Amino acid sequence: MDDCLFCKIVRGELPSKKAYEDDDVLVFHDIHPIAPVHLLLIPKLHVESLASCDAKHQAILGKLMLLAPRLALEQGLDQGFRTMINTGHGGGQEVFHLHLHVFGGGEHIPKI
Ligand code: AMP
Ligand code: ZN
Repeated sequence: MDDCLFCKIVRGELPSKKAYEDDDVLVFHDIHPIAPVHLLLIPKLHVESLASCDAKHQAILGKLMLLAPRLALEQGLDQGFRTMINTGHGGGQEVFHLHLHVFGGGEHIPKI
């Protein structure tokens, strides 16, 4: 996906503050954090949103979910954290490359 912002980050064409990387996942800090720790967990392969996923994405979705508590703890979120996936315009999604928000820390975590 040539024009996708997060694909550009995966390819190293745009900078990011990386927190974790392996063959199929990249994790970096959100550029506009809404909490003291705010990570974005993304598959390296372009997937538009959760609504575009099907059975072949089962493994990567599971991997992202299982990475969340591990990386949250690594970032010092030992009291817990929040996860969020915005899907589609109606769900407030702004970057159309699937990402799992993991955030927390500080006194007041934004409530939904
Ligand atoms: P969403 O609204 O769920 O699509 O979230 C997109 C997120 O990507 C927002 O929280 C943005 O702050 C974040 N974001 C946008 N551009 C960048 C970037 N270049 N590096 C890191 N995070 C970004
Ligand atoms: Zn992409």
